[in-house]
Amino acid sequence: MKRVRTRATAVALIIAVAVGLTGFYVARYALHGGEWVAFTSNGDAYTAGKLKAGRIVDRNGETLYSVTEGRGSYSEDKLTRTALLHSLGDRAGNIGTGAIYKYADRILGYDPVNGIYSLNGEGGTLEMSLDADVCREAYSALDGRSGAVAVINYVTGEVLCAVSTPSFDPEDPPEIAPDDTSGVYMNRALSAAYTPGSVFKVVTLAAALENIEDIENRELHCDGTYDVGGGQVTCPKAHGDMKIEDALANSCNCVFGALAVELGGETIAKYAEKYGLLERMEIDGILSAAGKFDIAAEGSLNLAWSGVGQYNDLVTPIAMARLMGTIGNSGREVKLTQIKSGPELGRDYERAMMASTAGKIDKMLDYCVAHTYGDENFPGLELRAKSGTAQVGDGKSNAWFAGYLADPEHPYAFAVCIEKGGGGAAVAGPVANRVLQAAVK
Ligand SMILES: [Zn+2]
Repeated sequence: MKRVRTRATAVALIIAVAVGLTGFYVARYALHGGEWVAFTSNGDAYTAGKLKAGRIVDRNGETLYSVTEGRGSYSEDKLTRTALLHSLGDRAGNIGTGAIYKYADRILGYDPVNGIYSLNGEGGTLEMSLDADVCREAYSALDGRSGAVAVINYVTGEVLCAVSTPSFDPEDPPEIAPDDTSGVYMNRALSAAYTPGSVFKVVTLAAALENIEDIENRELHCDGTYDVGGGQVTCPKAHGDMKIEDALANSCNCVFGALAVELGGETIAKYAEKYGLLERMEIDGILSAAGKFDIAAEGSLNLAWSGVGQYNDLVTPIAMARLMGTIGNSGREVKLTQIKSGPELGRDYERAMMASTAGKIDKMLDYCVAHTYGDENFPGLELRAKSGTAQVGDGKSNAWFAGYLADPEHPYAFAVCIEKGGGGAAVAGPVANRVLQAAVK
């Protein structure tokens, strides 16, 4: 193994020198490094001369990918293949988050405890935490638009869905130009950091609840505009007098912009970091993209906008889903996994948010659904949610909808982001409903 690693390192260096250290090639090297170890360098796996078998199943036992006589096959169903492409990977190895590369040793039946491969000729079965039904529904609901849907179990940490579009059928891959900019190989649920818009208000809200005395009883006001730092934060209309829960339900930019200025950028950044929105998240060896929160100058217009999820703010869908799950789990942040958990696994918690803060935000997100989004649009679901319509230039907006189910039987948190999709609740809300209905079925 040591020689393999040395050789692999040397190859990496040659690649780096030859083609330049671009992210693309580093990602490709990382993929093929894993492939060599699992598929070609371990003699035990080939003792029988032809053992090249194994399969990946979803959490309900549905076969997603199987290897027979060294030949890998995806599901027979095109929708399943396309919806799960970014979770499984493509044949050419262009998708760095693909399980068929990342977990090749487990597919072959490698037992990390005993250090042996099961040589029964059938290889191993990798049970992923993904739910193919939920993934298919997410792909269908995105309906050709670019974006991502992430669904996690916030108690076990299992990822149920990390669907990304655009996608393609790995059994019939299209010609994709080397200079393609659609990001078709990227799993946007993990690897795309988007302007969050108003879903970020939960961070500013949490900071306000913990740092501004008696904020819950303060009389707040919106004229439709808020003058700050020589510029103006605007709302679609004057929201008038309100308490903080109505400011959230109305998604009032003026109030949250003013709260951001009162709190200061450093305080909000501290909370964004504490809630895991800025770091690269590691999920079974797969790294997500980092988020971003730039600390704008005191009293500036940029600071006000940063508190409402604009300015330079960036968040990945998976990190937003996890934060929502942290609120649903009374402030305990769970470590995420794509491997199906046993009863005692996947409960690696960290206290990210005060339980009292989580309890207050839970009530307010419940109120958001009842007051703004309409319980009738999410039948049978104990939904807590916040929408976001994040302006990304050219008058276009990313449509966000993120939240969780306050349901011990179905402790699921989610984030939906549709690129340039329009209004968050109107566009991403129905996608979230379809996905959650499939998840609780
Ligand atoms: Zn307002």
